[in-house]
Amino acid sequence: MGKELQVYVNLPFCIHRCAYCGVLVKTGDSAAKGRYLGALEDEMDAAVQTLGEYDITSIYLGGGSPSIFNPDDMAHTINTLRDHVDLVLHAEVGIEMMPQTVGTPSLTGLGAARLNRMSLSMQSGDQDELKALDCGFTLTDVENSILFMRKFGVRNLNIDLMYGNPLQTMASWEQTLFLACGYGPEHISIYPFTAPYAEGMLPCPSAAEQEDMVAFAASHLARSGYTRYSKYHFAQSGFVCRHFSDRYHGSDYIGLGLGAKSFIDGISYENTSDYRQYVEHSSEFEQVTCNVMRFDEEQLEERLATCRALLVPDASLAS
Ligand code: SF4
Repeated sequence: MGKELQVYVNLPFCIHRCAYCGVLVKTGDSAAKGRYLGALEDEMDAAVQTLGEYDITSIYLGGGSPSIFNPDDMAHTINTLRDHVDLVLHAEVGIEMMPQTVGTPSLTGLGAARLNRMSLSMQSGDQDELKALDCGFTLTDVENSILFMRKFGVRNLNIDLMYGNPLQTMASWEQTLFLACGYGPEHISIYPFTAPYAEGMLPCPSAAEQEDMVAFAASHLARSGYTRYSKYHFAQSGFVCRHFSDRYHGSDYIGLGLGAKSFIDGISYENTSDYRQYVEHSSEFEQVTCNVMRFDEEQLEERLATCRALLVPDASLAS
């Protein structure tokens, strides 16, 4: 058995920027998205030797909104990556999906990429909150997405929720959790609301209120059959997310795409966040990587401790 490595692929395009978003995202037409996927495939080609040295345990397609890309083009890119790596048996290959993009075309196209995990954005079970956050989808979109995904055989579904948004009350958070559990996903993630662009938004629930929200989520999800295995993640038996659990155990990973970060054999580096530079030079490692740092023993220990702090003690990762 060789050394293990995770692969993260950044797909930094979105339909529009949600009111609270602080990550690197772009909007663009299908030609721009096609160029980006082409650049990604060039980067994969250039990294083939490095990738070939490892056993790949998971591929995670995040962003951004990976599901807004043309599904056939996306399947081609994922299959190009598959051709470049040795995936371990039962490797996890997952993608983040936006509810307004889920339907027959996307699920049919992506089916060719043999994904085995989908992560759906829901954020809130309150329509007014979704509107205030400018998420661009409705609760009906979420419900329809889940119906479609199940019909298309998705058996490992995560739902992303967010606590602490400015309109949220304990009652609306409880409703959000009741609804999410009612949809029966195998995995639920809860993340804190962070709003770097939230100027003019109402104040958020206080830190104490947010702690209560997390405490309620933990007990409600436990009662509903989900085991908490990290600060943010809850899974039914057998559905712990390999991408997150391995990462929190300190695994090595390679990031492909704009601004993607890597940590391999004690060295961290990241890809440029300059879109044009990435697209024009993605196959030239020296041109697109920056902030290269070799960790000494002490730094490696610190890194491991930081990763492991996200794991909940006594969580059963073998579930
Ligand atoms: S979908 Fe996610 S990444 Fe895209 S703008 Fe909204 S919050 Fe940001």
